[in-house]
Amino acid sequence: MSKDNRLFTFMIIPTATSKAKRISIHHNVIYITSGLMVAFILLTIFAAFRLVQHEALNLEFHSVKSENESLKKQNEAYESSYAKLKGQISYIEDVSKELARQARMENIPEVDEQVGMGGPESVSALDRAADHLERNVREIGDRLKSDLLRLASIPSGLPVNGYITDGLGIRRSPFGGGGEYHTGLDIAVDFGTPVAATADGIVIWASSHGGYGNLVAIYHSNGITTRYGHLSRITVEVGQRIKRGDQIGHAGSTGRSTGPHVHYEIRENDQPVDPLRYVEQARP
Ligand SMILES: [Zn+2]
Repeated sequence: MSKDNRLFTFMIIPTATSKAKRISIHHNVIYITSGLMVAFILLTIFAAFRLVQHEALNLEFHSVKSENESLKKQNEAYESSYAKLKGQISYIEDVSKELARQARMENIPEVDEQVGMGGPESVSALDRAADHLERNVREIGDRLKSDLLRLASIPSGLPVNGYITDGLGIRRSPFGGGGEYHTGLDIAVDFGTPVAATADGIVIWASSHGGYGNLVAIYHSNGITTRYGHLSRITVEVGQRIKRGDQIGHAGSTGRSTGPHVHYEIRENDQPVDPLRYVEQARP
């Protein structure tokens, strides 16, 4: 095998008139140089590609990082809102428990038992707790409302501020002729003093009625009625709805009376009862 010693000869002619220069280079040198140049170009392309790739990754990394930070902040905000909501719900629960106690509703269900507030913290647990509380509070509200209505229609206090001169029972007739049964309280007041209803109800009588003189009678509930007698003037009509404290007329001395006073009577199923039993009733 003979050794290949071919040369590549380059002619360099700087100008048209000057003498040409010859450069002879062994073919292996040409091949190696060409190979190195191709390798260099390929490496450059590869490096440029990697650089672009790296920049893209870097950008992505930064965007993921900032996204992560904002998620972290969101999470912190969420956690603090969650804690606040949880606190508010347990506050409302405490208040509703107290209200339930006052409304004598001992068997109102507890939120913890119902929705497992003690368990893993989740929005759905809070959601269930809030729903549950809403039901409880509505139930308590309904109960209190009906209690208030019931209480408002039970006579309480006196129709006028005055001096009680006579109570329920047998007394000497102020007109002579022995004893008589007095069916209510007599409360002495100045002529014309405004007279107020002692409970919510409906006016069932508003005119003169024998010895009562000008009488207003009000039906309340559960068979209870109140009567206000000897009025100088009546300011309500039969069928009118009355709230406790509403004025129904003015004190006077009409009917069987010896001076300005209000005859105040309470009847249960049309039987006169002692109004003093009702005077101290708790007001709603
Ligand atoms: Zn009387």
